[in-house]
Amino acid sequence: MSEQKQALLMFSGGQDSATCLAWALERYERVETVGFDYGQRHNIEMTCRADVRDKIKDLKKSWRERLGPDHIIDLSNLGAISETALTRDVEITLNSTGLPSTFVPGRNLIFLNFAAALGYRRGIARLVGGMCEADFSGYPDCRAETLDATMKSISLGMDKVFSLETPLMHLSKASAWALAENLGGAALVEIIRTQTHTCYLGERGVLHDWGYGCGTCPACELRAAGWSAYRA
Ligand code: ZN
Repeated sequence: MSEQKQALLMFSGGQDSATCLAWALERYERVETVGFDYGQRHNIEMTCRADVRDKIKDLKKSWRERLGPDHIIDLSNLGAISETALTRDVEITLNSTGLPSTFVPGRNLIFLNFAAALGYRRGIARLVGGMCEADFSGYPDCRAETLDATMKSISLGMDKVFSLETPLMHLSKASAWALAENLGGAALVEIIRTQTHTCYLGERGVLHDWGYGCGTCPACELRAAGWSAYRA
C-alpha cells in the first residue's frame, strides 16, 4: 500500500486522540496507533485506550477493516526525569514561567521522534496527533510552530519526508465534539463521553454529563466547558 494512504496516530485514549482516531479512519486506508507510557502518575488513560480503540473501530465496517495494530512505547525514563503534576504527587499550579505544573518538558518532541522512528520501520510517513493550540493550557510543545520545526528536523534527520496532521489544532473543545458527531454520529460522541479519560487526577468515580473526572482540575474544567458549549 502506498505511504499516502497510511497513517500512524499518536493515541493516548483521551478525548482529543479518540476524535482523531475516527478522523484518520475516515481518511486513510490503514491506520496504526501508538501509545506512550511515560510513567504517568495516573495510568487510567492507558487502561482506557484499548477499549476506546475497540469501540470506535466497531462503529463502521470500513473503520474495522482499516484499523491496524496498536503499539506501546515505554518512555518511563521521561517520567523519571520530569517533576510535574502528571508524573509526581505535586499540586497543579502555575510555575514561575506561567506554565501549569502539568507541563511535561519535551513530551511532544520526544513522542514525535519516537512515533517517526516507529513509522520509519512500519513504512508510514504520516503521523496524526490531537495537539490543539486553540484552547489548551499554553503548552509550548502544542504550538504549530514547534510541531513544524520538529517535523522538519525529523525529516532531515531520517532522510525521509514525514508529515504531521493535527485536525484539532485550531478547533475549540466544543468544535471537537461537533467534529466527532460529524464523523461517527451520536454513537461516537457517546463513546468519547463515557470511555475516554481526561482528568489530571485520574478520578473516574462519577459520570458527569461531560464524562468522568474530578470536575475541578484544569483538564476537567476545559472538558466540561467544551461540552456545555457544544450542547448549547
Ligand atoms: Zn479532573
